Amino acid sequence: MAKPTVPLKRIVVTALAVAAPGLVTLVALAALGILSPKWLALGAVLCAVLGWVVASILVGDLTAVAAYGDALSRHPDATEPDLTGWDPATNLASLIRRFSREARRREQMLRDGMNARQMVFDGLPQPLILLDDSQKILNINRATRELIGNPPPGSDLSAAIRDPRVLQMVQDTLDKGEPNATHLTISDPVERYFSIQAVPLEPHEGDGAALLIALFDLTERRRAEQMRSDFIANVSHELRTPLASLIGFIETLQGAAKDDEEARERFLALMADQAGRMGRLVQDLLSLSAIELVEHTRPEDHVDLAATLGSVIAGLQLEAEAKDMVIRREIDPDLPMVLGNGDQLAQLLLNLIDNAIKYGRAGTPVTVALRFEREIPVPLADAAALAAVSGVVRIEVRDQGEGIAAEYIPRLTERFYRVDTARSRAIGGTGLGLAIVKHIVAHHRGLLEIKSTLGEGSTFSVALLAAPQEKRPE
Ligand code: ADP
Repeated sequence: MAKPTVPLKRIVVTALAVAAPGLVTLVALAALGILSPKWLALGAVLCAVLGWVVASILVGDLTAVAAYGDALSRHPDATEPDLTGWDPATNLASLIRRFSREARRREQMLRDGMNARQMVFDGLPQPLILLDDSQKILNINRATRELIGNPPPGSDLSAAIRDPRVLQMVQDTLDKGEPNATHLTISDPVERYFSIQAVPLEPHEGDGAALLIALFDLTERRRAEQMRSDFIANVSHELRTPLASLIGFIETLQGAAKDDEEARERFLALMADQAGRMGRLVQDLLSLSAIELVEHTRPEDHVDLAATLGSVIAGLQLEAEAKDMVIRREIDPDLPMVLGNGDQLAQLLLNLIDNAIKYGRAGTPVTVALRFEREIPVPLADAAALAAVSGVVRIEVRDQGEGIAAEYIPRLTERFYRVDTARSRAIGGTGLGLAIVKHIVAHHRGLLEIKSTLGEGSTFSVALLAAPQEKRPE
């Protein structure tokens, strides 16, 4: 390190201070006549020279040590000072060096700690906002930024959340020092519903944080609650209609038509029809909940779909004949087994073929194709890799009905959704057939696709993982 320039004045003053006691003693000795003027002059010169030498070392080294301390405060690798070797100055320099290193180490630890805290805060999946006591934003984490954008630090909370209820709740929390909560709806880009909670923080020195806001996303829970209540309302409605007509027939048979033989026969047939409808609904509801119960595990039996299809078609033969329809089969000769649950796959085929008969035009054929495909559809790739399968078996059920308009197709698998409710009810539909199909397909980690052309007909296509083929013994 270049030697700092030492002001001459400081050396002179120090030299005088060093030489003063000697000079005073010499003058006193001369005054007492002990020292001749010649020796006084010699002694004075010696004192002055000695004072000058000591002062230059003292002032020079101390100035260099001070400059070193100053340089260290700005740069950790400041070059050490070039000292004369005077011990106190050398010790002082190394003391300053040690203090400086320790200070830097602690500063680094503090910075690491703050970075770690910021990383945890930022990485938490729950949206969090840190405010000071005047509702200014000190920090917001990534989850919050994704939700409300990126208000610059120091901006007011009202710039990010405009809901006056939330701002009032935050102010109340700051005023009373007690946790508080309210609700917040965010509509952009899709509507989401949150519980927003404010927790006052212990007063502390530092960043001035006074309050932590946490948002809890209740959208899914709300949606599930809504679905559950819609479902109950739908089921009650579906059951009430046939029940009401049953009650009506019973009252008529007990009253006006009591002795009317012909009316009794007719009403009993209608009653059997309504009771059958209620029975089918209950049966479908039970199937749906049974599938939902096991939906998280993939079924692993090896199912012979061609054989299953044979028995399903046999069961539907009468229904098809009643509409003058034939059910055609197109089955690959070497169709492999599929990984699945036999009963559920029978139900899937039944629901799809039953719909094709119900919604197909009388006198037209219904075609059911079973094909092996080596190419695994992208959405099934992960499940296929897990099960080590080499392809899929595709089921295709085609009818020549009126078809379904494109806008209805995405909703067909919702429970109780029908394109034409009256028609569905009139032909004995429960509105649950395709919802059951969707759940069976999901349980099998398969893929359901619906294609339809108005006036021409519809094709319901299901891809299922083929069972891995056993190697034949060599
Ligand atoms: P539903 O008991 O009413 O048949 P589904 O869940 O099986 O209930 O089907 C839902 C709706 O999808 C039906 O009401 C009907 O509007 C429509 N749909 C299903 N299959 C077909 C098809 N093959 N052709 C035309 N529309 C169909």
